[in-house]
Amino acid sequence: IRYTEGQGWHDAKITARRPLSIDPAASVLHYGQEIFEGMKAYRTEDGGVVTFRPDANARRFRASAERMAMADLPEELFIEAVDQLVKIDAAWVPSGEGQSLYLRPFMISDEVALGVKPASEYLFIVIACPVGTYFSKGCVSVWVSEDYTRAAPGGTGFAKCGGNYAGSLVAQAEAYRMGCDQVLFLDSRERRFIEEMGGMNVMFLRDDNTLVTPALTGTILPGITRDSLLKIAADKGLKVEEIPLDINEVFEGAASGRYREAFACGTAAVLSPIGRFKSPTGEAVFGDGETPGPVSLSLKAELTDLQRGRHNDSRDWVHRIC
Ligand code: PMP
Repeated sequence: IRYTEGQGWHDAKITARRPLSIDPAASVLHYGQEIFEGMKAYRTEDGGVVTFRPDANARRFRASAERMAMADLPEELFIEAVDQLVKIDAAWVPSGEGQSLYLRPFMISDEVALGVKPASEYLFIVIACPVGTYFSKGCVSVWVSEDYTRAAPGGTGFAKCGGNYAGSLVAQAEAYRMGCDQVLFLDSRERRFIEEMGGMNVMFLRDDNTLVTPALTGTILPGITRDSLLKIAADKGLKVEEIPLDINEVFEGAASGRYREAFACGTAAVLSPIGRFKSPTGEAVFGDGETPGPVSLSLKAELTDLQRGRHNDSRDWVHRIC
């Protein structure tokens, strides 16, 4: 769908996937006005196809657009575009456990202009691709980045814009070099409060049956999986806390048993138990470092059952497409 200032959104079409033709002076190539979402379509037990909380993705997309001075895309249009694509591609939605059709709605500015200013023309596109599980092992390992931060107060951390990821790639590469699967970012001021991972939020289970996760302070992405798990956990009788979370406290807590479980969560990663955190100065191991904790596993089962239509959807989170 194209946006032109003065005309609004127009010319919606669905085509077979093909390369985009873009002018070398298109503003996205120079000033990075690009935002996106990550969603999944799931095959339900009865053979239907659903998405999960698409309204939340549509709302976050609008918030990202506002932060990046891009065109506002109404929520209904976002959801309708995703629904139409999924309907056409319904045969590609796999049914195996952990499998889904990944959906990538995104917007770029393609005005031909080299002046530094918000563009007046945009393109909103949705592409799809079948995917399996993100991590194949039981527990992942996480590198605590001390050299790089992902976002600063007043910056774009809460928006899902390509630039945030561009800046995180070098830290993710460092994590791989250090033998870890993912990177964990700390806050940019004191370098001690946990923020989030390269493409996931992070949560911990404390020994007082409390699920703790960093508060949304504007520098981390408000994950939809994060929000869903906090609500599911509260339903299950766990206490939940969104607080500033000191990395030193977590390292000490892992050693003393105060912090029992840790996991990453996001649309792609679903819920991925974390076995260990490594930093330049030490290591925090959860359990034996390889076996997922029971609470992590039961939260994951609740979430995936809900997403696959196996659970009573009392919050109306499941959006049926066909
Ligand atoms: N943080 C970052 C940096 C991410 O890229 C993602 C994935 N979108 C998340 C958190 C989790 O968000 P969600 O649960 O909405 O996928």
